[in-house]
Amino acid sequence: MARKPLMAGNWKMNNTIGEAVVLAQNISNQYEDRWANECDVVVCPPFVDLKPAKTVFEFDRVEIGVGAQNVHWAESGAYTGEISVGMLKEIGCGWCIIGHSERRGYFGETNEDVNKKAKALIDGQIKPIICVGESLAVRDEGTTLDFVCAQVRAAFAGIDGSLAQSCVVAYEPIWAIGTGRTATPEQAQEVCAAIRVTLSEMYGAEVAEAMRVLYGGSMNPGNVEELIAQPDIDGGLIGGAALKAESFIQLIKACL
Ligand code: PEP
Repeated sequence: MARKPLMAGNWKMNNTIGEAVVLAQNISNQYEDRWANECDVVVCPPFVDLKPAKTVFEFDRVEIGVGAQNVHWAESGAYTGEISVGMLKEIGCGWCIIGHSERRGYFGETNEDVNKKAKALIDGQIKPIICVGESLAVRDEGTTLDFVCAQVRAAFAGIDGSLAQSCVVAYEPIWAIGTGRTATPEQAQEVCAAIRVTLSEMYGAEVAEAMRVLYGGSMNPGNVEELIAQPDIDGGLIGGAALKAESFIQLIKACL
């Protein structure tokens, strides 16, 4: 089955509001409307930049979505520093990254947290981009597939197949994030295929075939073609190369 690719830029903790507006405008200026039929494009700026970036894309009438990089599962309450699904919805945020390895590693986000966030996002009709991926130690141990597939099972625990379809899984080997060291297309394909098998075991082949599995980890204009040529890689979650409009646009063009 042909899945529409998704290119999602993760800006991480980069760009003030002014810088975010300039970057969004540069992306928008180079974006061509007809691409929307062939590839979904999303940028995930820091919370404070979400509304400004969204406003740029709305003003320019380009079909580029915005996504958050985190969310809390509670509706509201005494959770200092957190942001709710309702708050994201109000600013027109259609996507949200959860379980990024930086949040798991630096902020203690667990598989259970990822599952609660996924459920809250699905309830609020925001599409979760669920990140999974192994450390170098796990890869060297030879247990990558078990580790990553367990993360997938935990993230989707208790989520019905009809709802799981709105989710995207991003395979991001931790050793490839921000390091310039990319997984080979074969390594990335092996894990993305195993993720799809896991989704198929949970939800059946039809649902699994319809769901998008992305690769993330030092994806750039030089390696994108061979990565997205893999049968189970349906686009990318991009860090560094999403911070420059020119490289992000080249990554989108590779999906057309
Ligand atoms: C990421 O942080 O999701 C990522 C893939 O980063 P980079 O592209 O910089 O490796």
